[in-house]
Amino acid sequence: MAVLDVIQTPAFQQRFFFLAKRFIAGETVGQAMDAVAALNAQGMTATLDFLGEDVVAKPEADRTRDAYFELLAAIRERNLEANVSLKLTAMGLLIDEEYAFANLCAVLDAASHNHDPFVRIDMEGSAVTDATLRLFERAYAETKHVGPVLQAYLKRTPGDVERMIGLHARVRLCKGAYSEPPEIAYRDMPSIRTHYLRSAEALLERGNYPGIATHDERIITAVERFVRERNIPREAFEFQLLYGVRPDLQRRLVSEGYRVRVYVPYGTHWAGYFYRRITERKENAFFALRSVLSR
Ligand SMILES: Cc1cc2nc3c(=O)[nH]c(=O)nc-3n(C[C@H](O)[C@H](O)[C@H](O)COP(=O)(O)OP(=O)(O)OC[C@H]3O[C@@H](n4cnc5c(N)ncnc54)[C@H](O)[C@@H]3O)c2cc1C
Repeated sequence: MAVLDVIQTPAFQQRFFFLAKRFIAGETVGQAMDAVAALNAQGMTATLDFLGEDVVAKPEADRTRDAYFELLAAIRERNLEANVSLKLTAMGLLIDEEYAFANLCAVLDAASHNHDPFVRIDMEGSAVTDATLRLFERAYAETKHVGPVLQAYLKRTPGDVERMIGLHARVRLCKGAYSEPPEIAYRDMPSIRTHYLRSAEALLERGNYPGIATHDERIITAVERFVRERNIPREAFEFQLLYGVRPDLQRRLVSEGYRVRVYVPYGTHWAGYFYRRITERKENAFFALRSVLSR
């Protein structure tokens, strides 16, 4: 059995939440709200993700959609500076595209009552890139409060960046967190960085309020230099970082006057997200191991 198969079992996720605690704001919506309130108090906004992905049964996708209704209502009630991010495979994309689209539209409708009605569609593995962008464009034809994520490691991304600039869509740019084959993705860090920066510059100069999602200080420094040289105002973009990753960098960017949004995942289905954080950084495996040993 592969590691991911083991940690994905409900019994494992129930017993071992403490392993993932550093990266996940809590198991309940209340705990997630408290985490966002703390970020807001430090001058950061948030985007909340109800954990789950690759859902293959409609009742589970329906529960995820309903969890977003609860989440959006909680953000409203607590008057927090936050919007939401979702994964289309959690909304049923692997079951039926039309059904996932209906769930996406239902969440967009619920979000329209919020102070920040924006809904970000996370980007997943390359098997669903086309379908994700297709559903994004269909939703975007109905409301502008929705935006996609583009992954700099994919060789197709410069074309997608130009398309999104043409649509005036709000893009989050990240490196990409899935294991992709060399035919379609750059796999060495220097190439990923170079392509990230090219796409970031295009989005910063010609795009609509891009989210620069990275903890990579080389990229962040290059972006800071670029916006200074081009006189791009700080209100024209935001840096985005993950909950529990480089909180020192998050605070530093705020103190320098940049807009910072933190991606805050919560819920009991944390295995896939946790696995990606562990595998992209071997120190995290030691960190998790230390939490086991210190109990
Ligand atoms: C806000 C946000 C949203 C994202 N959304 C998506 C998405 O929709 N789809 C997708 O495929 N990917 C997404 N990602 C993940 C992204 O693709 C990368 O996998 C992840 O951000 C690591 O890349 P990096 O740019 O931070 O650079 P890296 O080179 O991986 O890291 C740079 C530095 O950041 C720190 N760091 C990075 N990751 C960790 C970690 N896990 N633990 C501790 N320290 C760390 C370390 O100091 C490291 O040296 C998102 C990332 C962010 C920040």
